[in-house]
Amino acid sequence: MHRVTLIPGEGIGPEVTEAGQMVVEASGAAIEWEIVEVGAEAEKRYGTPTPDYVFESIARNTVAYKGPVTTPFGGTYRVRVTWKRPGTDPQEVRSYPSISVALRKELDLYANVRPAKSLPGVQSRYEGIDLVIFRENTEDLYAGIEHMVSEDIAESVKIISRRASERIGRAAFEYARKHGRKKVTVVHKANIMKLTDGLFLRSVTDLAKDYPGIEVEQRVVDNMCMQLVQKPELYDVLVLPNLYGDILSDLAAGLIGGLGVAPGANIGDTIAEFEPVHGSAPKYAGLNRANPTATILSMAMMLEHLGEENSGKRIETALKAVLREGKEVTPDLGGKAGTREMARAIISRMS
Ligand code: NAD
Repeated sequence: MHRVTLIPGEGIGPEVTEAGQMVVEASGAAIEWEIVEVGAEAEKRYGTPTPDYVFESIARNTVAYKGPVTTPFGGTYRVRVTWKRPGTDPQEVRSYPSISVALRKELDLYANVRPAKSLPGVQSRYEGIDLVIFRENTEDLYAGIEHMVSEDIAESVKIISRRASERIGRAAFEYARKHGRKKVTVVHKANIMKLTDGLFLRSVTDLAKDYPGIEVEQRVVDNMCMQLVQKPELYDVLVLPNLYGDILSDLAAGLIGGLGVAPGANIGDTIAEFEPVHGSAPKYAGLNRANPTATILSMAMMLEHLGEENSGKRIETALKAVLREGKEVTPDLGGKAGTREMARAIISRMS
């Protein structure tokens, strides 16, 4: 039995998470969920959107599934974290721009892994897409070091370190080696940000010598956007600093049919957290119309991570059958099924 921390999330989170749980349970995987809360409800109950017990649960179980959560735009919203992280001062309070960033940074989940693979029956402008994006998760402009210089000028600090660049680079190369991938493309803007992106580019390309047989190439991020739209079939594994990775992984989701079908994971040396790429889509909350595919694929990735490959494959095969038929799917995929009905259809196709 694997004990997994489960954060249902906010907005459409609880609906898609429930659909994912139904499918995982039917797959025969031995999962015991430890359900914890973050966000507005947690704030009401515990006085903080990120209670200590959430971090403690994930650190103890080492595997988590996280539904999407809502982050207010603009303003001065910050998440304050007080749990006693190993090696920190018990009095210390850390603060982050969002709950997702707080979890990734506190648990050192440095690799954001986002596969973008074409799915049968899912309408898209492209076919045969098979990309995997490795986004550095802990620094860059997302370090959250921002301040107002004056009433009219705001400043944000971009942090890039060799250590963080090397470990995301190594995660990408290791993945490529393990999965028989041929090429790793390093994406950057080192022509303009010569020191920060220059360090990222050098740190990752220097690793190539340890991976003979895997081609390494580099692309400037703006050119990469155009290339992905024009010739996505030329690319395989991409590795990027945090901000470009965030943007390009949504672009890649667009190549395969949208945010509703794009899974993801945040991986560290000992802890892994799985989550869909999409957000809490508040306008669809409670309507039973959100697409559960991204959640279900994220949970299938989680099962593979836990060594429950057979259950993961059963889920993917059944999901693809439902998508291919195109009837019992949610409105964003052209169907009329609700989130729950789509999950039931997937379960009914499991062999
Ligand atoms: P979003 O991903 O929530 O929604 C953008 C649009 O994509 C939606 O309006 C909808 O049309 C579509 N969409 C997304 N998921 C879908 C699904 N499962 N089924 C069908 N359609 C789907 O992005 P947003 O509107 O920019 O953000 C909304 C909130 O989510 C914000 O508070 C944001 O901060 C948060 N967010 C959270 C995460 C996370 O927790 N990891 C990630 C992204 C955004």
